[in-house]
Amino acid sequence: NDQQMADLREEIMDKLDRVFRLKTFRSNQYEAVLSTLLGYDVFVLMATGGGKSLCYQLAAVCQRGRVKGVTVVVTPLIALMNDQVSALEAKKIEVISLMADLSEEKSDEIKNRLRSRDKPSLLYLTPEKLDRSQGTRQMLKALNYTGDLARFVVDEAHCVSAWGRGFREAYTALSGLKQDFPNVPIMALTATATPQVEKDVKNILGINDCIRIAPESLDRPNLFYQVLRKPKDLKKAILDWIKADHFGECGIIYCSSRDRCEEWALYFRDNGITAKHFHAALDAVSKQQTQDKWASGECSVIVATIAFGMGIDKPDVRYVIHSTLPDRLDSYYQETGRAGRDGLASRCLLYYTVADTHYMFKRIDDDMTVTPEYRENQKTMLRQVMQYCQNNVECRRTQVLLHFGERFDPLACNQGCDNCCNSKDSTKIDMSEVAIAAIQCLKRLGPRQTLTKAKLVQKREEWGSTIPGNQEKGLSMTDRERLLNSLLSLGILEQVSCGNASNGFPQYKINPTSLADEFLQKRGPHYPFTMWFKAKAAGVNTT
Ligand code: ADP
Repeated sequence: NDQQMADLREEIMDKLDRVFRLKTFRSNQYEAVLSTLLGYDVFVLMATGGGKSLCYQLAAVCQRGRVKGVTVVVTPLIALMNDQVSALEAKKIEVISLMADLSEEKSDEIKNRLRSRDKPSLLYLTPEKLDRSQGTRQMLKALNYTGDLARFVVDEAHCVSAWGRGFREAYTALSGLKQDFPNVPIMALTATATPQVEKDVKNILGINDCIRIAPESLDRPNLFYQVLRKPKDLKKAILDWIKADHFGECGIIYCSSRDRCEEWALYFRDNGITAKHFHAALDAVSKQQTQDKWASGECSVIVATIAFGMGIDKPDVRYVIHSTLPDRLDSYYQETGRAGRDGLASRCLLYYTVADTHYMFKRIDDDMTVTPEYRENQKTMLRQVMQYCQNNVECRRTQVLLHFGERFDPLACNQGCDNCCNSKDSTKIDMSEVAIAAIQCLKRLGPRQTLTKAKLVQKREEWGSTIPGNQEKGLSMTDRERLLNSLLSLGILEQVSCGNASNGFPQYKINPTSLADEFLQKRGPHYPFTMWFKAKAAGVNTT
């Protein structure tokens, strides 16, 4: 009733102030705390640095909600768990962490403490702990039996889904939670979830009817997005770019290999930029030193593998450069999101060449540590990145946000990406006939149905060289390549593993699954096939 709600609200505000020493909530935090205290299942989508931990830590110390007792937090990273535990202890909050490698003595001590009256507010676990040791589940059941289990919190919830970044096999153990503890509310939190991942998470955790708390838009209006063709001497191009307009500013440059991080950082230092490298193979002390220098501004540029970023919260990062292709769009969005936290204009550059994708597809194929299904998922996601890079007409925001299920009006981009700046009036054209002709041309050519891009281009008269409205000029070489790569990224064509025979050109063949056949019969998910063109090139009058 009203009085209870008022009491609850009062307790929440009081604990925010007295325990956490904070005056106000950030966006959506209050809604999340209240929903879980009222006993609902909650799915929270909140940007990195948005303050997810407070949502459950504050709920954990409130006792006037509908549910009370110990809040059990499942989190994948022991390092982050340790950070949180010491931060909570500093606030005098009772907390216990249960990691995979505890001594028997220690774990008995914990069990006793959970049985005693002196129970902690929070219990942190790794997902492994919930899975293997039935002991932990039994212990939690006992806790629940006496009404002392307030809620389960699943942090980094995207790890539950085989479509999620950093999928963890151990997280699948969470699928039984709802059956085992039907009365215990679950709170799932993540910073990146595509609609597909969100659906998976809700299904696996059994919280389909949960309250969903998410920002209205994931758009970051102060970031400028740009995709560039990779030049021959990339490190020099980046150096020139920094020197011309961004000298002295903070930036992150992502590289695919550790060696390259070191080589580039050295090169930048030799050219007067205070750069440092960062990757997973550094020892803990060097990592800390680098992070400290970066935080203090002593070093302005970090050349890093994607290992750099977890827990980085520097507000004045003016640019994020991807020197190679990210392996998925949600990772890309997450990584670029480290720029411009202070709200000031910042730039996101991505250097693209199809050649990089060959090696990435191969790396996925060669990874025998994961299931075939997971490999296919990864390829699909890599193809989405290719499509994003190749679509040099449609608004970048519209493209990337659609990936997260958000419809973004390109007019709202406000010249905030390369495509919107370059082509105000672009148009989508049905290229199905041209695509069909190209596939049939491929079919006619040799038993292996492979050929180089160069050859296919020579055969232009065979596969229809024009686009509507531009009869005499025909499809440019670039657009031809774009068309083939689009068919590749849709999975209608596939890449032939690149041997020397192709002289570095991509080789295409028809994907033996039914996708291509369906397409030729003008059916299936990819028919009709459209491409974006600049209105002028297409000869379409848009005025
Ligand atoms: P996330 O897990 O969402 O990436 P964190 O929970 O680590 O983010 O919070 C990021 C930072 O924001 C932390 O330093 C935290 O203390 C701070 N923070 C969280 N909520 C608030 C708030 N309401 N007011 C001020 N600072 C906050």
